[in-house]
Amino acid sequence: MKDSFTVDVTETEHNKVWKQCLEFIKGNVPPLTYNTWFLPIKPVEYTDNSLKIQVPNNFFVEWIDEHYNTLINRTINQVLGPEGELVYVIVEESEPEINEDEPTLFNQPKEELKAAVTEDKQDFENYLNPRYKFENFIKGEGNQLARAASYAISENPGETSFNPFFIYGGVGLGKTHLIQAIGNRIIEKFPSKKVIYLSSEHFTVEFVDAIQNNTVNEFSNFYKNMDVLIIDDIQFLIGKEKTQDLFFHIFNTLHQSGKQIILSSDKPPKDLKGLNERLISRFQWGLAADIQPPDFETRIAILKNKANSYGIEISNEILEFIALNITSNIRELEGCLIKLLASSSLSEKEIDLNLAKKTVNEISTTRQVNISIEYITQIVCNHFRVDENKVREKNRKKEVVLARQVAMYLSKKLTKSSLKTIGLHFGGRDHSTVIHAYNTVDEMLGQDLHIKDIIDGLKNKIELGAA
Ligand code: ADP
Ligand code: MG
Repeated sequence: MKDSFTVDVTETEHNKVWKQCLEFIKGNVPPLTYNTWFLPIKPVEYTDNSLKIQVPNNFFVEWIDEHYNTLINRTINQVLGPEGELVYVIVEESEPEINEDEPTLFNQPKEELKAAVTEDKQDFENYLNPRYKFENFIKGEGNQLARAASYAISENPGETSFNPFFIYGGVGLGKTHLIQAIGNRIIEKFPSKKVIYLSSEHFTVEFVDAIQNNTVNEFSNFYKNMDVLIIDDIQFLIGKEKTQDLFFHIFNTLHQSGKQIILSSDKPPKDLKGLNERLISRFQWGLAADIQPPDFETRIAILKNKANSYGIEISNEILEFIALNITSNIRELEGCLIKLLASSSLSEKEIDLNLAKKTVNEISTTRQVNISIEYITQIVCNHFRVDENKVREKNRKKEVVLARQVAMYLSKKLTKSSLKTIGLHFGGRDHSTVIHAYNTVDEMLGQDLHIKDIIDGLKNKIELGAA
């Protein structure tokens, strides 16, 4: 590989370059991995130090990116030099060139693939991911309002009373998917409309760049010129006063001229403590819709849909098992499925209930490892607006007792700590106090739906926060 920087340019240059890459990769991964993930790739073009490779679908790209990113970077560096670049092109193949062992893993429905290769006709990067569509967003009770409003907006951007439109909810529940689905549908339906999607962090970074380059006016005008401005995870503007100021002006200009503004956040506007009040009040002008964790039926539907999009059929028994055990986060639900598909294809074993149990178990263990009793206490006390120290003292106030019992209950549920350890964390109480707290909360759960909602919500928050 020593002469690798001087790649000979002939008519099959891309083949040649890719062959060198494969040689390098082959030496660095087990044969099964090599056959599964790298052999099916086809080189298509090589220009200006950039190698285009063709892959069968999005899942493939995501998988490689997640698992072999370092290897890919090393390979490119080795073969093309530090300036080298690898570009994925997703192209549907009638007959994927893969072993028969995993024939269906790489077959996605045509629609999704077409969407993935649809070209962006606008002359600026809109950062929309074509994967996020209404068509593959499963309706459920938890997302009914948010979805319906999103759809209505995509029909008439800027012309409904949902302006701004504000979606809020926990991690992995579909906020990004929905707000991008709106953007994707708008550019499809109204190709002349200028739509842009950014996370608030991305927006901040660009703003800082603009300050450094003395281009704040251009920056601001660029966004004021949009027909639809979509900003994800707006909570990350907290503490960034200057960005908030600029955003405030952009917001006003857009809103006054009837342009659509779409925002997402992990909390409702009024709870965005630390965000400028004038922004919070504007966020409440239109519609704020929440997304709740999916119910059992929705979880099943999402799993079925996903499995289907990977071209795999999984028995109801297994789907139900997953849906019963992974309850609060759709990203995790998808992750479980992908993990299952991968371990089945890599170990060449059928997907059966045992494999599903093992996979779900692995996911719950990773989750539990990260959750500490301190963290649980913090989230619970925050919710009940109780000083954390009070739950560790001998305070008998009603709300403190409730917070303490709930925190003990969740510590037992979500960590592997013993009753004794839990008791120690709450001011050295003994294990029978913890049992009593656990039983009290357990009883309340059976009798009081409101409490059940609260505790489910807390559990969700803790698991997601620790993930
Ligand atoms: P959030 O932005 O709320 O953290 P995402 O929008 O990133 O969550 O969703 C996490 C994953 O779950 C994404 O892959 C998304 O496509 C998928 N997802 C979420 N909600 C749904 C749904 N209702 N139907 C299908 N897929 C969903
Ligand atoms: Mg998101």
